[in-house]
Amino acid sequence: MMAQKTVLIVYAHHSAGSFNAAVRDVAVEELARQGCRVIVSDLYGMNFKASATEEDITGGMKNPELFQYGEETMHAWMEGRLTDDIITEQRKVQEADLIIFQFPLYWFSFPAIMKGWIDRVLAKGFAFSLEKMYNNGIFKDKKAILSFTTGATQTMLRPDGINGDINVVLWPLQNGTLHFCGFQVLAPQIFWSPAHCPHTVRTEMLRKWQDRLKGLWVEKPLTFAPCELFDLSFQGGFLLLPEVREEVRSNPYGITVGHHLGKPLPPDNQTRAQPPEEHNTQAACRD
Ligand SMILES: Cc1cc2nc3c(=O)[nH]c(=O)nc-3n(C[C@H](O)[C@H](O)[C@H](O)COP(=O)(O)OP(=O)(O)OC[C@H]3O[C@@H](n4cnc5c(N)ncnc54)[C@H](O)[C@@H]3O)c2cc1C
Repeated sequence: MMAQKTVLIVYAHHSAGSFNAAVRDVAVEELARQGCRVIVSDLYGMNFKASATEEDITGGMKNPELFQYGEETMHAWMEGRLTDDIITEQRKVQEADLIIFQFPLYWFSFPAIMKGWIDRVLAKGFAFSLEKMYNNGIFKDKKAILSFTTGATQTMLRPDGINGDINVVLWPLQNGTLHFCGFQVLAPQIFWSPAHCPHTVRTEMLRKWQDRLKGLWVEKPLTFAPCELFDLSFQGGFLLLPEVREEVRSNPYGITVGHHLGKPLPPDNQTRAQPPEEHNTQAACRD
C-alpha cells in the first residue's frame, strides 16, 4: 500500500462561490478519497501578510544599518526567529509531498497575496541556496502544480494570440520559483475563462480535473535544463558548458523556454510533459 501522502493547497480567492473555490473543493474531495492528508492554506481567509518586511523577523538584525530581507530572513530561519505565520507555513511545506497553488491569474502572474506567501515562506536557506537549486534543489522530492483560472480564452494565449504564448507566461513562475526550489513541476492545470463559458463547460472542466487528480502521482513532470549542463561558478558565469552547446547545435529547438539559444521554443515546454520522442531530439534535456 502507498504511504499516506500529504498535499498542501495554497489557495487565493476571496469568494466561497467562485470557480476557484469549486476547483479547490474538487481537489480536497478527490485527494481525501485517495487517502491523502489535505491541508488548505486559505490566504485571504487567514488574512496572510503579503509584504516582505522587517516585521517578519523577531529579535535583533544582523545588520541594522542596511536591511537585506534575504540575508536577515536566512539567519532568522536558522535561529528560529521568523514570525509564527511563516514558521507555520514552512512546516506545512516540509510535510507536503505535493503543493497545489490554486489561484486566478492576475497580471500574468500570482495574485499579490500568493506572491507574498512565496516571498515570505520560501526563505533563503529553508527553500533554496546557490548550492541547492533547480534539479539539485531542496524540495527535489516534492511535486508542485499551478492550478489556475484565467479571464482570457485559450486562443488569446497562443503564440499567435493577442496575449502571447502561455508557455512564456509560465516560465518565471514554474522555472524561476518552483523548479528553482527543486520542485518537480507537473503540467499546469489551466481553467480557461470560466466566467465566459456555459455552465456545462465549467462542470466538464471540474470533472476533467477530478479525473486528472486520480493519476497525478504517476505523472511525468515538465522538463527543465539540469544544473549539470552549466558551469556552476562565478568565473564561468553559470553559462552553458561549451560541450553541451556543441551537442545541441543541430537541435531544431532550444532547450527550454528560457534556454532557447535563439532557436524556436520547444513546443509546449511549460504546459506539457515531453513525450519520449521529443526528448530524443533534445539531447540536453536529460532527466
Ligand atoms: C487584478 C486582476 C488581474 C487580472 N489579470 C489577468 C490576466 O493577466 N490574465 C487573465 O487571463 N485574466 C486576468 N484577470 C481575470 C481573472 O483571472 C479571472 O477573473 C479569474 O481567473 C476568474 O476566476 P474566478 O474563480 O474568479 O471565476 P468566477 O467569476 O468566480 O466564476 C466563474 C463562473 O463559475 C461559476 N461557478 C462557481 N462554482 C461553480 C461550480 N461548482 N460549477 C460550475 N460553475 C461554477 C460562477 O458562478 C461564475 O459564474 C485578472 C483579474 C484581476 C482582478
